[in-house]
Amino acid sequence: MRKHLFSILFLLIAAAIWWASISSTVRNPVVDNDKPVMVTSGYVPYTIIKQLVADNVNVLMLLPPNAEPHAFEPTPGALIMLKHANAFIYMSDELEPWAADLSKVTDEKAPVVKLADMIPDSTDPHVWMNPHNAKFLAAAIVKILVQIDPVHEPIYEANLAKFDAEIDALEQAFSTALAHCQSREVVHVGHLAFKNLTDTYNLQLTALAGTSHDGEHSAKKLAALTKEIKDKQITTIFTEDTLSPRLAQAVAQETGSRILPLYPIEHISKQDFHNNITYAELMHRNLQSLTEGLQCQVS
Ligand SMILES: [Zn+2]
Repeated sequence: MRKHLFSILFLLIAAAIWWASISSTVRNPVVDNDKPVMVTSGYVPYTIIKQLVADNVNVLMLLPPNAEPHAFEPTPGALIMLKHANAFIYMSDELEPWAADLSKVTDEKAPVVKLADMIPDSTDPHVWMNPHNAKFLAAAIVKILVQIDPVHEPIYEANLAKFDAEIDALEQAFSTALAHCQSREVVHVGHLAFKNLTDTYNLQLTALAGTSHDGEHSAKKLAALTKEIKDKQITTIFTEDTLSPRLAQAVAQETGSRILPLYPIEHISKQDFHNNITYAELMHRNLQSLTEGLQCQVS
């Protein structure tokens, strides 16, 4: 914690110097100054908020595309964004300890919301991986939007209804597509991000690392995983789209399995970010990989 506080102090000084150097010529290059500013930690809140706000609010994301969310080191730019924030939204202290520290530098009038607090009893911080939970996250976001921009409440409520309908369809698609599969074993050569998803749809998950990228895998765990794949004659393994593919390729070569991607959504590729790929679209990609990899019957 002390280390984090020192880092923030350092960043504050660096941000002040940087801001002083540009503020005479550029007021703020990314923000429309007539609209409220909502700052988010990473892609999960960012993409849901983007769907809800239309063009009425500036939405900024602290975690750059391709960056890893669990152990991110904020930049001076993050503090500039927070300086302008009318609200700061992140997932949880457990998932993003850096965001918890940054929340202390927001304006005292700006609400700070930890979205995972809206989800009851979750032991896995990747709460959005149960699609149903996305509705709770969206409802909490709309509450804040109405607070900081009450004029557009009807738009936010209408967009929330649309979002909820999209999630209903997503849940239906998952239930149907994963009902009858040759295998229910999801072997993930990555971190433990998908437990809420596999628990919801009665699949068994084995992941190489823990819930954070910090915990890295050990050679022993890798050997055990490889043995399990061979013993259970598993034909497909999964990995995360933004991880280096080398580890999964080594496991696939050793076991004769093929690799399919899963998308944790908490980090996002540059391309998907620029294409504004939505939460539901990423979850449909997950469903596509699972149905293919587990050989589920398509009805
Ligand atoms: Zn994670």
